[in-house]
Amino acid sequence: MDAVIQHPLFPTVAIIWTMFAMGSGLIASEKNRGFWAWVLIGLLLGPIGLLWAITADRVIPPDEARVCPFCGGTINKTATRCSHCRRKVIAEQPDSAAKIGREAAGAVFILRHAMRRAAGAARPPRPAGTRSGGPTGTPSDSPPVTPASGSSPASTGGTPLPKS
Ligand SMILES: [Zn+2]
Repeated sequence: MDAVIQHPLFPTVAIIWTMFAMGSGLIASEKNRGFWAWVLIGLLLGPIGLLWAITADRVIPPDEARVCPFCGGTINKTATRCSHCRRKVIAEQPDSAAKIGREAAGAVFILRHAMRRAAGAARPPRPAGTRSGGPTGTPSDSPPVTPASGSSPASTGGTPLPKS
């Protein structure tokens, strides 16, 4: 061990190795990952740990995350392109979206109210108790009553008229 520590290159290697460890921790913490855990990974793996930290995905906090509509991957709310499938997504702006929604709902309510009032004013009020369009007279299943005319059996087939 003394031979390693007294090696002329030891301070240089130690500094470089510490930089790998600190670099891993800093890069990982930028990606919302644990700083000290990644310092340890950097200490153990050196350049491999640093490379791992560089290539690791960014961890999105739950309050900033949403699901990509195409691949289901977790992406940032403000992202305009999915980091997993690289497809374009619409950035979510919760405040303005809620405001637009409230305004649209209010406008629809006012419009519907106005339309109902306009329809009520245009149509004359119907008298109560009468149904429009329903059958009012004779029921359709009763036999039709033929009116008495000139060709009725009373005038032709009945008692023959006496000839004088
Ligand atoms: Zn996606």
